[in-house]
Amino acid sequence: MRDTIAAIATPLGQGGIAVVRVSGPDASTIVARLLERGDRPLRPRRVYVGKLLDRAGGSAIDEVLVFTMRAPHSYTGEDTAEIQCHGGSIVSGRVLHTVLEAGARPAAPGEFTRRAFVNGRLDLAQAEAVADLIAARSDAAQRLAWSQLEGHLSARVETLRTSIVAARALCEAAIDFADEDLPELDNARLAHELERIRAEVDALAATFARTRVRYEGARAVLVGRPNVGKSSVLNALAGRERAIVTPVPGTTRDVLEAAITACGVPVVIADTAGLRDTNDVVERAGVERTHAALADAGCALVVFDGSAPLDTADHAVAAAVRDLPVVAILNKRDLPAMTTKADVAALVGDTAMVELSALRGDGLGDLEAAIARVLLADANRDEAEVGIFRERHRDAVRRAAADLARAAQALEAGAPLELVASDVAAAADALGAITGVVTSEDVLDRVFAEFCIGK
Ligand code: GDP
Repeated sequence: MRDTIAAIATPLGQGGIAVVRVSGPDASTIVARLLERGDRPLRPRRVYVGKLLDRAGGSAIDEVLVFTMRAPHSYTGEDTAEIQCHGGSIVSGRVLHTVLEAGARPAAPGEFTRRAFVNGRLDLAQAEAVADLIAARSDAAQRLAWSQLEGHLSARVETLRTSIVAARALCEAAIDFADEDLPELDNARLAHELERIRAEVDALAATFARTRVRYEGARAVLVGRPNVGKSSVLNALAGRERAIVTPVPGTTRDVLEAAITACGVPVVIADTAGLRDTNDVVERAGVERTHAALADAGCALVVFDGSAPLDTADHAVAAAVRDLPVVAILNKRDLPAMTTKADVAALVGDTAMVELSALRGDGLGDLEAAIARVLLADANRDEAEVGIFRERHRDAVRRAAADLARAAQALEAGAPLELVASDVAAAADALGAITGVVTSEDVLDRVFAEFCIGK
């Protein structure tokens, strides 16, 4: 029999309402005992309003709403009770304290969700999605986490795992009944099937980078020689004065950032000090920060001044971002053009290019679309694509792909079928770790440690 856990499920701080959550065999009786109405049992899925006492028969702490749910029809799959009291850490803290004194124990981080997993209410990928949903910082992240919570990733992984298990069964049958009168294992067919599954597993692995960008956002770094309008572009994108716009060359010394959503993709855009070779200590530090910012950027936004001819500093900038995906920005289009798109293309090559005026604010929509396109590295990106964005999932998928490749090689090399079968089994287990069909306490500890208390 499990014990009964309790925690405050709402954030600390002042708010209208706080929720204290109780789960376990004694949830309902503990809460019933603390209500002024006495020890009468609470009927599940009914809302009660009443005074909550600091102990059975004690004095009132607050007027609360209470409802209970009976196992297995609750989030955790256990008997649960939720107490809604007034917000603020003192009231909710006293309510929790009282519930703990009445026999519950404090819940560990993620313990409610862990119980939901253990009781089969959610699989492991869905449990992780709960944390991802709570941590979502953009609409795109929320949609991804919700889709995973609905089970779309789990379904895809389970389909793959089932085909692997079937392939393994083929091997096992051939091993077990080698001397009997069974049709011989069709090696070519098995090899073909392993290859087919591996391609699908690889395709899932390949979703990682772009799905991660969809969930977390990416970094884009503004570069360009001084005065081309980097700060102005940043300000225009952010729609507010996050960076100081100045006409003095070399004065944007710190990396300034703005978080925007480009066509649903969260992006942190950093404005940089520039890339000029310089002896000025302060400016040099800025240049170093620029290089550091470029090192973990998903793309570079290279700004050119369309009202002036390109010069050697523009060439140096273009050279510095050679290894990154680039969106070229031809700025100051409100002024007479001295540089054309063709000039810029000759410098930066075949990249996305946008003409705009940061001053007037036109062309920004095109810029956002170009940023999203380049970051997702995937022109016809599919919002509904089922992808992975956790490293744990990526590692599992990669492991499965490697196991399948090894199995196919062993088969081709005429290795004993036992070897093939064991690689295939390992691949199935690797995928099973994603949904938690195959798991260990270790993995669960790690997954749930990152949850907040009360979830
Ligand atoms: P940075 O050094 O690259 O960050 O450039 P700033 O954003 O500080 O801009 C340098 C100068 O160019 C400032 O005087 C801006 O007002 C001006 N500027 C920036 N964008 C535009 C634009 O689109 N059109 C015009 N006419 N001037 C601009």
